[in-house]
Amino acid sequence: MFDNLSDKLDKALHVLKGHGQITEVNVAETLKEVRRALVDADVNFKTAKNFTNVVKEKALGQNVLTALKPGQLMVKLVKDELTELMGGDAEGINLSGNPSVILMSGLQGSGKTTFSGKLANFLKTKKTKKPLLVACDVYRPAAIDQLHVVGDQIGVEVFSDREEKNPVAISEKGIAYAKANGFNVVIIDTAGRLAVDEVMMNEISDIHKAIKPQETLFVVDAMTGQDAVNTAKAFNDTLNFDGVILTKLDGDTRGGAAISIKSVVNKPIKFIGTGEKMEAIDIFYPARMAERILGMGDVVSLVERAQEQYDEEEARKLQKKIAKNQFGFDDFLNQIQQVKKMGNMKDLIGMIPGAGKAMKDIDIDDDAFKHIEAIIHSMTPEERSTPTLINASRKKRIGKGSGTSVTQVNQLLKQFDQMSKMMKMMQGGGGKRMMQMMKG
Ligand code: GDP
Repeated sequence: MFDNLSDKLDKALHVLKGHGQITEVNVAETLKEVRRALVDADVNFKTAKNFTNVVKEKALGQNVLTALKPGQLMVKLVKDELTELMGGDAEGINLSGNPSVILMSGLQGSGKTTFSGKLANFLKTKKTKKPLLVACDVYRPAAIDQLHVVGDQIGVEVFSDREEKNPVAISEKGIAYAKANGFNVVIIDTAGRLAVDEVMMNEISDIHKAIKPQETLFVVDAMTGQDAVNTAKAFNDTLNFDGVILTKLDGDTRGGAAISIKSVVNKPIKFIGTGEKMEAIDIFYPARMAERILGMGDVVSLVERAQEQYDEEEARKLQKKIAKNQFGFDDFLNQIQQVKKMGNMKDLIGMIPGAGKAMKDIDIDDDAFKHIEAIIHSMTPEERSTPTLINASRKKRIGKGSGTSVTQVNQLLKQFDQMSKMMKMMQGGGGKRMMQMMKG
């Protein structure tokens, strides 16, 4: 789904990866590429422009010193904004009436009949719902047959009247039939045309006025990109519908419709169709869709967990210590505690895109830090703050005290030494970059 867009966004967001800081220049450069990726995916130009403007403002408004690197921060901002653009929270359908009447609208071929079946099937599994399908296409006998085939397939009754040529009358009869026979949901499948035309709009509008459905849904083929958005606008002007159903998201969709439809008609996408089978229906969750679009695994949750654990004051203190060469084992232990608070190792690794799959067969010790912690706990306070004190006899004592070996103690000391050097180097580099930027 949305492979092309995902690739392009990924490339755009990569621009920031090597940067230590968000600046006007690198944000502008990144967002130009983001905007281009959106427009290429058939997102309406105005929507794409608004989108990048909002992200830019938020990015520049962020405090420089956060737990996130600029690249990560931008991914999070783009993801949050995509979610917002697609509707924020998931929205259900109104099933308050008895029967509750759901009117389907949309062009011919959009997937109305298929989706009517999917929805009936979806509701049927909720034990309290007994749906009835009503065939209101008076022009194409094949459409009535098609709904009957779908109904048989899922075991849901279909109401049709091949003699009746007035769709308003059929829908009213269908509702009356439902009331008389204990159906509590009525799904009305209507006739569509290949393009928006007045006769069709008048017809669906007449049905809508006569039956006053609890829920009017507009079905649209996601593959049609900007056309989908224009059609949605035309239907919404006439029907003021309640929600959008995006079908054929399993295909090679560019994504534009999913991203821009909500902002153009201001109605939520409620369900998506992801295949021809009756089971291929999903509730639309904007946040999950944004994650899919960004091809990001669940890195957002990972980033959020890191943010939750991040304490700006502590970070400043730590930076000072590193600069003064005072980073010791107590600080190291502290860092381990922070990481551990984020969740178990398996969970965390699973959130890294790609890593979960690659490492699924590797057994990761849930208590990966157990030995390290034991070794540090066996050190004296002086040894923790001045690790150079740890000579051969001290190593032996620490190994014994922690139930580990001198080799393991050596390993940790070496890792710690390397880490301290690296941290010092990173600080130096950051400082130099900052100086350069101020000069430039
Ligand atoms: P209608 O004219 O609006 O009632 O559209 P149909 O329900 O007859 O669907 C038109 C075609 O699209 C049919 O061949 C369906 O099998 C197919 N279709 C519907 N929904 C989906 C979907 O989510 N994914 C795919 N791949 N095909 C779909």
